Amino acid sequence: MEDRKGDVGAVVVAAGRGVRAGGGAPKQYRMVAGATLLEHAVRRLQSHPAVRKLVVVIARDADEWFAPIAARMSPPPPYVYGGATRADSVRAGLDAMDGSIDRVLIHDAARPFPTHQMIDASLDGLAEADAAIPALPVADTLKRADEDGRVLETPSREGLFRAQTPQAFRLPALRGAFAAFAAEASRFTDEAGLMEASGAVVMLTRGSESAFKVTHPEDFMRAEQMAESMETRTGQGFDVHAFGPGEAVILCGVPVPHTKGLSGHSDADVALHTVTDALFGALGAGDIGMHFPPSDPQWKGAPSRIFLEKAVDMVAARGGRIINVDLTIIGEEPKIGPHRDRLEASLAELLRVPKARVCVKATTTERLGFPGRKEGLAALAVCSVETPRSDDVS
Ligand code: MG
Repeated sequence: MEDRKGDVGAVVVAAGRGVRAGGGAPKQYRMVAGATLLEHAVRRLQSHPAVRKLVVVIARDADEWFAPIAARMSPPPPYVYGGATRADSVRAGLDAMDGSIDRVLIHDAARPFPTHQMIDASLDGLAEADAAIPALPVADTLKRADEDGRVLETPSREGLFRAQTPQAFRLPALRGAFAAFAAEASRFTDEAGLMEASGAVVMLTRGSESAFKVTHPEDFMRAEQMAESMETRTGQGFDVHAFGPGEAVILCGVPVPHTKGLSGHSDADVALHTVTDALFGALGAGDIGMHFPPSDPQWKGAPSRIFLEKAVDMVAARGGRIINVDLTIIGEEPKIGPHRDRLEASLAELLRVPKARVCVKATTTERLGFPGRKEGLAALAVCSVETPRSDDVS
């Protein structure tokens, strides 16, 4: 699994005109299952845990098509304008990467459904190469023909692959290849071709049929069917911890100063336990106690983020993404309001989602019951997760 502390950037190239697919707007702006091809692609990349910075490259005259997308997405993806050729557009995207990024994924917006497994494989491939690109072996028999359709020969398909995107590159090597080829860079149909010409090692990794390119009108039907294979699932969580000795309670991984702490086997972060259980619930994957038995001494005093990380990894491993999490902390004290911003920021970071996708609220029980008697804190959470339809996944 890719190191998620990563420094991985993603450039989604959406500057093309896509005339072959017919219709008015370029194909990446056409709707499939309630979102444009571009949005589907951005979501798949943005939700990958290693991707730290994503930028979309659009054509200079594409504002009218991009504006509704920016309005629908929360937060809207950053974008830059591309150039006259694909190479110019990719370069513009690379220029938008900051200094901490040292690996980059280049993706075509016309491929709406790249999988996280493909991205993992390509990033892993960079351990031994400057470029690693997803590809599938050619299955059909190949024919070479003249303009009239008369077959000239049947070339062997042995060793032939169909290259897909996102393609992964070591950023300095890719920048070097662009610099070396300068004006000539536009003759390559993908960046891997440019890297090959520069003498770099380019590795093939396992591609996926679901990352097909929408090229012809009938491909929209296929994309529609793919999108419908996703489903939205809901999970809920509930947890309680009693107060004990201490000077702070840990909530969402953040120490909140108090005259007491929370007692429990781990760090007793009632908020993270609740959210973790909600995620496991959405996946139909048991509960926190099943994955991290309290009887196991290795979880004694453990930071609860490791429990949440497991649930978040499980969502990603299923090819899913977290849509939102809504958390309510229940108790008389400490007051959550002054810390709410930090709690939301921490929770969003741990869930690897933008802050707009989490909400942390607090309420009292009007001094009734155990929270009202200030004996401890409770928490409730609801989450929504989008995953591939999983009737056949246990
Ligand atoms: Mg607990």
